[in-house]
Amino acid sequence: MAEIINGRKIAKEINESLKTKVEDFINKYKITPKLAVVIAGGDPASLFYVKMIAKSCERASIDFEKYSLPSETTEEELLKLIDNLNKNKKVSGIIVQVPLPEHINQERIQEAVNPSKDVDCFNPINMGRLALGKPEFLPCTPYAVYELMKRENIVVEGKHTVIVGRSNIVGRPMALILLQKKQYANATLTVCHSRTNNLSCFTRQADILIAAVGKPEIIKRDMVKEGVVIIDVGTNEVEGKLVGDVAYEEVLDKSSVITPVPGGIGPITNVMLMQNTLKAAGKLVVSE
Ligand code: NDP
Repeated sequence: MAEIINGRKIAKEINESLKTKVEDFINKYKITPKLAVVIAGGDPASLFYVKMIAKSCERASIDFEKYSLPSETTEEELLKLIDNLNKNKKVSGIIVQVPLPEHINQERIQEAVNPSKDVDCFNPINMGRLALGKPEFLPCTPYAVYELMKRENIVVEGKHTVIVGRSNIVGRPMALILLQKKQYANATLTVCHSRTNNLSCFTRQADILIAAVGKPEIIKRDMVKEGVVIIDVGTNEVEGKLVGDVAYEEVLDKSSVITPVPGGIGPITNVMLMQNTLKAAGKLVVSE
């Protein structure tokens, strides 16, 4: 029977030590790290996510400020706000919530965020640094997976890791993180996506399988081998319930370690955002 990872417990532990670090930072520099979140329009999922971020900030003793803009906000207005936040010494980290309204060029906005405040790691400069193995920030969801591997002593080196999904938010940076010449990285990787022929041929070879697809329970029992470590990043709503990309009940007795959905990677992700915000606050202090 698999070891079932308790993501909520891990998130709580990380947050406790992070909160102490934030309090030490405040005492030392008389500055409270602050996260500015910009949201344009009323996408319900984004609004919910921003509420979760506010709670995470509160738990970590990090200041939170929300900038809610109407959906008819122009690109120039949004760029002006980002410019002000970039210059504002009280703001350590900036998130621009996506999706943005259709008339706004998302890439242009992400490029406008100062790379030193880009705690979501969306700016191409930060992605480039990660690709070169010299990251400034790690994108929060793959960072959560990496942190979990460290805490649970899941050794990647010498194992075959298969990632299903290559999005810029999860799959692709996950691959880049695991390719780093570092402990809990040095991975031998296969990355699969929607154009992969015979997906199960690859997933069956995985010692470690990371699913980031966004398709409920696409990974079935016959697609994994005995003893596999399964990290399920997928978060899919099915009939009012959250389910992962992995058919959890089916693979439970075949896997050695598994993250459930909900209660796996999700809760750790927001704490990593807080970790990045503290790091960004530190950069601001050093640069003064
Ligand atoms: P995207 O839709 O951006 O990417 C999905 C990826 O899966 C793409 O690379 C796509 O391939 C690939 N894919 C789609 N269908 C198949 C298939 N049939 N076989 C193999 N690969 C396939 O999603 P995200 O990366 O943003 O998110 C993935 C999942 O993770 C979602 O469920 C999302 O909700 C969840 N998530 C969870 C987070 C958390 O904190 N726990 C945070 C972020 C996301 P292609 O590139 O060819 O299109």
